[in-house]
Amino acid sequence: MLGPVILAASRSDRMRRLISAAPVTKQVVDRFIPGETVDDIVPIVEELTAKGLELTMDVVGEDITTPEQASAARDAYLELIERIAPLGLGDKVEMSVKLSMFGQALDDGHELALANVRPVVEAAAAIGTTVTLDAEDHTTLDSMFAIHEELRKDFPQTGCVIQAYLFRTEADARRLAEAGSRVRLVKGAYKEPAQVAYQQKHEIDKAYVRVLRILMEGEGYPMIGSHDPRLISIAQELARRAGRKLDEYEFQMLYGIRGEEHLRLAAEGHRMRVYTAYGTDWYGYFMRRLAEKPANLRFFARSMVSK
Ligand code: FAD
Repeated sequence: MLGPVILAASRSDRMRRLISAAPVTKQVVDRFIPGETVDDIVPIVEELTAKGLELTMDVVGEDITTPEQASAARDAYLELIERIAPLGLGDKVEMSVKLSMFGQALDDGHELALANVRPVVEAAAAIGTTVTLDAEDHTTLDSMFAIHEELRKDFPQTGCVIQAYLFRTEADARRLAEAGSRVRLVKGAYKEPAQVAYQQKHEIDKAYVRVLRILMEGEGYPMIGSHDPRLISIAQELARRAGRKLDEYEFQMLYGIRGEEHLRLAAEGHRMRVYTAYGTDWYGYFMRRLAEKPANLRFFARSMVSK
């Protein structure tokens, strides 16, 4: 019940100001967002990759309001790519981007977001890695898929995310499950209306399995974005039945959630990619993590009270 309330708060400027200014927020935020600057994050990239994990990097931020902020987002990714280039990690470290941070919701936002994301995709390709377009709320997805298709003409390895909770997703998965495509499947983290999305957990989980089957039986490269132990076992079984080798799909989880499971899957020989977010504009990302698990909120509330 709490989840939708927190998701509504994630879009409130008043709550953003209140929560961002709370003195104890930072220590709770650090669990999910382990740095604010490139200098903070490069050692973490080194540490995690040394443990056999792969990464997808997110410079946090979304819902920007000016073209200058969109250019700054592009530059932040370019700086990150420049800083990790000497590590020679290739596609062990890829980028995840939110097009809203690249200007998608501004005037002429579709073109602006495409113009801003393209140099990031080019820079990533130049160091042997890729970019995945995150999925945001359902109103943004036609634009996201069109940008994905456009980028794939020059950079076919560009990935995208699909969300099991949306009714449209089975059809999207069928379209995307073609040779060379990279598709991350997640349950979905936004507050969506009943006209477009399943609302009940068991319905979303069933939809996840249906879509996963389409991806596993298809020709593309499935990226299983979930911490759900049941779905992870089902994914392993579907991969086995589809005759996929261990390097023909991968698991992805968020930094700070089920860290031991990251290491366990990597030790079993799976490709395990950790979605690692950093930056100062962490509010929206952090609130979605609270909404996913009410226990996080209790922990957060307790830390506010005990100070
Ligand atoms: P759940 O049923 O929510 O969780 C299963 C178990 O995982 C829980 O019981 C708990 O033990 C643990 N867990 C899950 N979430 C948390 C948490 N926040 N804190 C502590 N424990 C937790 N969503 C989008 O809409 N668009 C995206 O582009 C997107 N990208 C993602 C990328 C990756 C790599 C991952 C892993 C998720 C992404 N998500 C994205 C979020 C996703 O939609 C879900 O909201 C999130 O993954 C929780 O769903 P779950 O599959 O882990 O299952």
